[in-house]
Amino acid sequence: MASPALLMRVVASAYSVAEKAATIVRSVMSAGDLGIVEKAGPNDLQTKADRLVQMSICASLARKFPKVTIIGEEDLPTDDVTEELIEDGHCEEILKKPCPAQYTGIKEEELVIWVDPLDGTKEYTEGLLDHVTVLIGIAYGGKAIAGVINQPYYNYEAGAGAVLGRTIWGVLGIGAFGFQLAEVPAGKHIIVTTRSHSSALVNECISALNPDTVIRAGGAGNKVIQLIEGKASAYVFASPGCKKWDTCAPEAILHAVGGKITDIRGNSFQYNKEVKHMNSAGVLATLRNYDYYASRIPNTVKESLVP
Ligand code: AMP
Ligand code: MG
Ligand code: MG
Repeated sequence: MASPALLMRVVASAYSVAEKAATIVRSVMSAGDLGIVEKAGPNDLQTKADRLVQMSICASLARKFPKVTIIGEEDLPTDDVTEELIEDGHCEEILKKPCPAQYTGIKEEELVIWVDPLDGTKEYTEGLLDHVTVLIGIAYGGKAIAGVINQPYYNYEAGAGAVLGRTIWGVLGIGAFGFQLAEVPAGKHIIVTTRSHSSALVNECISALNPDTVIRAGGAGNKVIQLIEGKASAYVFASPGCKKWDTCAPEAILHAVGGKITDIRGNSFQYNKEVKHMNSAGVLATLRNYDYYASRIPNTVKESLVP
C-alpha cells in the first residue's frame, strides 16, 4: 500500500503530540508551581505549562515535518528542546482514513500549523480545569483544513472511574471524531462567550441577540466544543483579543461537521503564514443557524470592530 498522504501523517502525529501536551499540562498543575508570568497584562498570562507545551509541540512537529511552517502562541526557541519533551508517536486510526482527494498532493512547504499550547490559561490558573484545551490547527491555501483539540481535564469532576482527558480531531471532507455531535434543542438560543475578557461592546452584542441563556466560559477551544456537543448555539465575542492559533483548530473541526465561524462582520479567517495574528473583528461561530445570529448583530457593533 502507498504511504499515507502528508496531511494524514501530520494529523496523526499532531494527535499524539497533543496527548503528550495534555500530560505536561496535568503534571505542571499537580506539581503545584505554575510559574505565572504576565504578558500584556493581568488578563494575558503565561504559565510553565504554556511554555513547556509550546516547546514540546513545536519541536516535536518540526523534527518530523521540517519544512512545515509552525506558528505557536508563545515566543520561545524550539531548538535545543530537551528530549523528554519530544513526542515521536502517531495515531494509527487516523492513518487508516483515506485523505480527501483535494489534499493528497499537499507538500510540507504548503502547510501552516497554528499552535495554542494552552488555551484558557486564565481559567487554568483559577482551577477551572475543564475550560483548558491544547489546540493544533493545520492550514493549507489560507484555510483551516484539519485540527486537533485536546481537553486535558475532560471528566475531571466525574469521579475516580472516569478516563481523564480526551482528544478531538477533524479534517474537512472526512468529519470530526472523539466526541458525540449534538444540537441545542430547536428554538433555544444559548450564547457562549468569554468569562475573563468581557467589555461593554461584548455585552451589548449579546444583549442585542436576546438569548435565552448566556454561558460565560474560558477558551476558544472550549467554546467551540460546547457548540459541537449541543451545549451552546452560538459563540459570540465582539472584541479583538482572540488570535489565529485560538481559532484555527476549532474552525477546522467545526467546519468538518457543517458549522461556521467568521469574525463578527461575517468575514472568514485566513491562516496563511503572513496573516496578522489578531482576530481584530471578534468571533461569531455556530454549528447550525449561522444566519440567524449573523443577521441580528447590530451594525453599530460591526462598525466598532475593524478587521
Ligand atoms: P476567552 O474567551 O476570553 O477565553 O478568549 C479566547 C482566547 O482569546 C484565549 O486564548 C484568550 O487568551 C484570548 N483573548 C481574548 N481576549 C483577550 C484579551 N483581551 N487579551 C488577551 N487575550 C485575549
Ligand atoms: Mg488561546
Ligand atoms: Mg494559549
